[in-house]
Amino acid sequence: MSEHNDRAAWFQGGEAHCSVKPEARKRAYRLVLLGPPGVGKGTQAELLCHKLGTCHLSTGDVFRAAACQDHPSPALQTALAAMKRGDLVSDGLVVTMVEERSVCLSCCGGFLLDGFPRTVMQAEALDELLDEQGVKLDAVLSYELPLSEIVDRLSGRRTCSKCKAVYHVTARPPQKEGVCDACGGSLIQREDDRPESIRVRMKAYEESTRPLADYYEKDGRLIRVSADGKPEEILERSIQALEERTVAVRS
Ligand code: AMP
Repeated sequence: MSEHNDRAAWFQGGEAHCSVKPEARKRAYRLVLLGPPGVGKGTQAELLCHKLGTCHLSTGDVFRAAACQDHPSPALQTALAAMKRGDLVSDGLVVTMVEERSVCLSCCGGFLLDGFPRTVMQAEALDELLDEQGVKLDAVLSYELPLSEIVDRLSGRRTCSKCKAVYHVTARPPQKEGVCDACGGSLIQREDDRPESIRVRMKAYEESTRPLADYYEKDGRLIRVSADGKPEEILERSIQALEERTVAVRS
């Protein structure tokens, strides 16, 4: 579903209809992905969505799409300025944005949240939203990697300007340099993947996002996954960990 779904409800807010109706699934996964910038979360999100049939819900993608609007609201302008500096957008604004899209949380196709929550306050707000929707998180996958490896991955990352597919100049190059294999769009380096923004983002991650792992570990929802190796190997590791968790919860 995810690769053909335009995710209209997520990009435009709950009122919009997605291009593909989610089919009722035997197993609809509801997952959160955690991990520092550059750990390969976006790539895993894509692979996991393809494998599990869930929708990839990225708050960063919503902000990047909003940046193309002709007349962004003052609140959105403030958010985009924070994003450009590599800072986090305020909790209040991000939570409101996700609230407006809460229909995506109870969608029977499941979801994979990428980039949200990023603070404990956002995680608490998400738990409340899920309660209201009558659904539960299956697990939180936390991808882990040494810092030096992360810096290398980030500086070589390229993103499709049209479909948001993620590449790496050496580890996952496109067939034709600068061109997306999937849609032919041009590949760009995101503004926040530049060295000065990377430093700010790593600091924001350490201060705000790492405590999230503790939040989810407390009640057993956290699964730590080594992000070392090829994307397909990490995917395999993630699926295996999820399956083991599902068996453990059932027994
Ligand atoms: P991402 O694509 O997830 O790396 O997000 C890109 C940028 O969007 C971040 O560096 C933040 O400025 C902003 N952003 C996205 N999601 C959030 C969030 N949950 N909380 C705060 N800021 C966010």
